[in-house]
Amino acid sequence: MQLLDGVLASKAIKEELKLEVAQLAVTGGQKIPHLAAVLVGNNGASETYVGAKVKACNEIGFKSTLIRLEADISEHKLLTTIEELNNDLNIDGILVQLPLPKHISDEKVINAIHPSKDVDGFHPISVGRLVQGLPAFVPATPYGILLLLEHYQIDTKGMNAVVVGRSNIVGRPMSILLSSNGNPGNCTVTICHSHTRDLKGWCRSADLIVAALGKPEFITEDMVKEGAIVIDVGITRVPDASKKSGFALKGDVHFASVSPKCSFITPVPGGVGPMTIAALMKNTFKACMDKN
Ligand code: NAP
Repeated sequence: MQLLDGVLASKAIKEELKLEVAQLAVTGGQKIPHLAAVLVGNNGASETYVGAKVKACNEIGFKSTLIRLEADISEHKLLTTIEELNNDLNIDGILVQLPLPKHISDEKVINAIHPSKDVDGFHPISVGRLVQGLPAFVPATPYGILLLLEHYQIDTKGMNAVVVGRSNIVGRPMSILLSSNGNPGNCTVTICHSHTRDLKGWCRSADLIVAALGKPEFITEDMVKEGAIVIDVGITRVPDASKKSGFALKGDVHFASVSPKCSFITPVPGGVGPMTIAALMKNTFKACMDKN
């Protein structure tokens, strides 16, 4: 079994970006990528994710602006903020950290971001381009998984891939990317969800499993065939009195029992999470370069 180390792979990607940004500074006259992150309320996990994204920008040499808004901000005010960011020539990429408070429509907010600044890749135009195989902002988590497979030079051609979860931000785009004609890609993909009959059977048939269901340690040893590649997207905070924070992070895969059967597996934390941030940085760089 080999661990797919997202910390290591993301570091390599961030180093590459750092060099490219330094090059922009040398050539002069070229804009440095600038990401605007919008955080509504003070959800602990969202604070952590946004903090990590801003930190990554600083490490690479991107500019970043964090806009904090109160949890009770009106939908109208949030949409106005996005419009201002759309019109701000200094800003290349906009991300609005999800989930949003219940009184705000995710859909309206996602649709309000200008497609040229849609570094999260959730706008219908980005999704449409992705489905058609056109150059697009690819949602950061599935993009990060592709980058991880690429980093470890894993050839997925012809594999049976099972994606567990069909969300717009992870499972659905992941299934499209793995089935596309590219590398990584060229898999025969099955997408499973909470109504799938015989989930265990589908998983056992898979050469590659992407677990993105948000149920801690759901994928157990009996659901995985020998030699499979297992990508664990799940991150759930589980109460743990032994930790200073009061919680432990759990993936969707029961790592201890599943890992000995795998050819490759991602750990949680330290697998998909850091790759998601690296992918977001690549999208931000692309947004800036598309304009430069
Ligand atoms: P989500 O929107 O809640 O979607 C979960 C999906 O899993 C749904 O499609 C659901 O099916 C399916 N599902 C739930 N229970 C199931 C079951 N028992 N059997 C089969 N399918 C089941 O979640 P998400 O936003 O995609 O996130 C999934 C996990 O990834 C979460 O733990 C999240 O925190 C994590 N995540 C991590 C990163 C990262 O950077 N590492 C990024 C994003 C998300 P239905 O559609 O039928 O309800």
